[in-house]
Amino acid sequence: MSDCIFCKILSGEIPSKALYEDDDVFAFEDLNPQAPLHVLIIPKTHIETINNLDNHNSAVIGKLYLAAKKIAFDAGYSNEGYRVVMNCGEAAGQTVFHIHLHLLAGRPLNWPPG
Ligand code: AMP
Ligand code: ZN
Repeated sequence: MSDCIFCKILSGEIPSKALYEDDDVFAFEDLNPQAPLHVLIIPKTHIETINNLDNHNSAVIGKLYLAAKKIAFDAGYSNEGYRVVMNCGEAAGQTVFHIHLHLLAGRPLNWPPG
């Protein structure tokens, strides 16, 4: 998608600080971190929101979680704990319409979230 900033990050048109990559998934530091570790994990295919998931494109969701697990482990947060969250739609705070898993760690994370 030519106007999607995360597709531009995937193509290298917009720079990012990469933390993980495989055939299906890319992960990079959030530009405006909300915790000492704040990583965005995205599929390499453009999917706008959770509402656009179906049986043909949803296998990548498990891969996003496996990447989150590995990044959290490598950063030393496996035992302490971390949060993974995906916003869907404007009311939930989604601002970039290319699905992304937030991985947050390194400070107490309140529940319920705001
Ligand atoms: P959401 O509000 O769930 O759609 O999350 C979008 C996230 O993308 C926010 O946490 C932003 O800080 C982050 N973000 C926006 N532009 C960039 C960028 N160019 N590089 C890294 N993170 C970004
Ligand atoms: Zn995109």
